[in-house]
Amino acid sequence: MAPEPGSASAGPFFSSRHPMHADLERLIALQRLDTSAEAARKKLADEPERERSLDARLDAAKHRVASAKERLASNQNARRAMEKELAVHQGRLSKFREQAMAVKTNQEYHAIQHEIAHAQAQIKTHEDQMLEGMLEADELTTAVKSAETDAAAEQKGVDADRKAMKAEHVELQHSLERMSAERAAIIGALDKQLLHTFEQVAKKRHGVAVAEAKDGICTICHVRLRPQVFNTVRRNEEIVQCESCQRVLYFVPAPAATQAAT
Ligand SMILES: [Zn+2]
Repeated sequence: MAPEPGSASAGPFFSSRHPMHADLERLIALQRLDTSAEAARKKLADEPERERSLDARLDAAKHRVASAKERLASNQNARRAMEKELAVHQGRLSKFREQAMAVKTNQEYHAIQHEIAHAQAQIKTHEDQMLEGMLEADELTTAVKSAETDAAAEQKGVDADRKAMKAEHVELQHSLERMSAERAAIIGALDKQLLHTFEQVAKKRHGVAVAEAKDGICTICHVRLRPQVFNTVRRNEEIVQCESCQRVLYFVPAPAATQAAT
């Protein structure tokens, strides 16, 4: 999460014994606002993409239901076709049995017995296949139900995410308005030349025009400051820019060091 956008002051970690240069404090606050506002704008800009991914989740769940139903339907079609074939073989079997009653010769008898055996084998094969198809149909029916349950859960999840996104959208809009008002107040009090410097540096440096100096180093561009420059920055009483990245530098005294000083 970005720092609390509401806190326009530089924060409590600066020693009250050494009041910070007022404009330096304003620049730090301005930077916090701009960074938070940028993050809020980015979140707003990401909303269509998030919407699309929610739609994709629903589409995928619906697709899983549809293809489970398709598999069940094709199983049912196959079973209906098998039933018809089975009926054909059963019809032939009873026809052969009738003919068997009327045979005159031994040869005819054997021929018809052969046909009967063949028809019985066909019937057996088809009945086995139909039983297999019925067992498969049970599994496919279960799969359809489970896909439908998943789809309902996905719909619920997506609805909840959409609701959260809508609430977040409103929240982001409000905080942007609040930050815009705070920004105007800070700018109103800030030295115009410094504001110009801030904006120029921010433009060149991905929106970040202020940097903490720590252990003699600019913490953003990592260039080591000249000892004299760092000592000046440590006091937070002047506007000092990093000689390498031009960002305005400030120093956060360690709590223990603050106690030990003076
Ligand atoms: Zn720097």
